[in-house]
Amino acid sequence: MGSHAHDDHEPTTAGPKVLAVSTVSPKVRTIAVVRPSADDVTYLAATKTGLGITLKHFAKNLFGFRRTVKQLNEGTAPHGLQNDIETIQYPEEKVVYPERFRGLHRLMQRDDGNVRCVACMCCPTVCPANCITIVPEQSDDKGIEKRPAIFEIDELRCVVCGLCVEACPCDAIRMDSGVHAKPVEERGAAIMTKDKLLAVSKDVGKSPLSIATQGGVGANWRDGK
Ligand code: SF4
Ligand code: SF4
Repeated sequence: MGSHAHDDHEPTTAGPKVLAVSTVSPKVRTIAVVRPSADDVTYLAATKTGLGITLKHFAKNLFGFRRTVKQLNEGTAPHGLQNDIETIQYPEEKVVYPERFRGLHRLMQRDDGNVRCVACMCCPTVCPANCITIVPEQSDDKGIEKRPAIFEIDELRCVVCGLCVEACPCDAIRMDSGVHAKPVEERGAAIMTKDKLLAVSKDVGKSPLSIATQGGVGANWRDGK
């Protein structure tokens, strides 16, 4: 296979520099070997860049002004090098959770104080963590077939997805308590029983009653119409 010096075959597109092209087969070429630069071999440039970023953050954290929780909650913190520190001194300081924050479960009550749940088993069926246990029993109320004799949620297994709330056909379970599940020392203590779930509304100062009309029918039953 012969070849000749590359004068007339300069590549028209970016790529390795072609030194020579075979006269027998133009696809066979001699290309220049690209050697990595000293910076590439020693990682000096990358190290310098990384150190620069680290030092910039170090100086900002040392001399910058931390945004106050009030500024963060109200969205009034000015942006800029001096105001980009968003560290929160949790748990002394807390940011305001969004309106739809999914917190600890609570069970809602009927007007007569009984639990709204009719043990339809929609929520344990949809729960991806399999952490809801319901044992139904016959209800005393002639208009309601069943009620939960046992209703438990294992908050340690719960993945806080909110599907149980979405699945409930009668607004019996909510996650709008605005608080986290309490830390526990034993696994068993993380299980919220029916009584504990019913007591959450009082603990967080929210009404345990649904806005839905009991026995309401039609598309607007949640609005009480
Ligand atoms: S929030 Fe999700 S994981 Fe937790 S109990 Fe409800 S369905 Fe199950
Ligand atoms: S979906 Fe609602 S009514 Fe049905 S079992 Fe769960 S909490 Fe009770």
